[in-house]
Amino acid sequence: MPTPASPTSPTIFTRIIRGEIPCHQVYRDEQVLAFLDINPIAPGHTLVIPIEPAATMDALSDESAAALGRVLPRICRAVCAATGCADYNLLQNNGAAAHQAVFHVHVHIIPKPAHAHGHGSGLGIDWPARAIDHAAAAELARRIATHL
Ligand code: 5GP
Repeated sequence: MPTPASPTSPTIFTRIIRGEIPCHQVYRDEQVLAFLDINPIAPGHTLVIPIEPAATMDALSDESAAALGRVLPRICRAVCAATGCADYNLLQNNGAAAHQAVFHVHVHIIPKPAHAHGHGSGLGIDWPARAIDHAAAAELARRIATHL
C-alpha cells in the first residue's frame, strides 16, 4: 500500500522536485514540473505535477491548480509534436482504489499511437457506462452543487 504524502515521508515526486532523484525533465517553472514517466505505457508518456505536495486533486490549492491548467495544453502540444501522435489521453488518479500509486497530484499525458497494440499502445479504458437515471441525477447534481 503506498504511503500518503506527509512532512516526514516525502513522496518520490517531492524527491524528484528537490533533485534528489533524477528524471527526464521536459518542463519546469516555479509551480509546475513535467517529466517522462519511468514506466511509460506509450512513448512520450509524461507526468505533469504541481510543485505543491498535495496528495490528491481535491487537496490542491487554486493557485497550483491554475498553474497546472495553464501549462497543460502547451505540454500536450509538445508531446504530440515530439511523438507524432495526434491522439492522447489525460489521466489523473486520486486514491488507491482509483489506481493512484504516488500520493502527489500528477496528470498523465499518454500519447495514443495509431494502430499500436499491446505494450506501448497507450491507455486502455474500461468504461462501465449505462444510461443515466434523470430523477436520481437531478438530486445528485443538486447535492454536489451545495458543496461548491
Ligand atoms: P499513478 O498510478 O499514481 O497515477 O501513477 C504514478 C506514475 O508514476 C506511474 O505511471 C509510475 O510509472 C510513475 N513513477 C513512479 N515512480 C517514478 C519515478 O521515480 N520516476 C518517474 N519518472 N516516474 C515514476
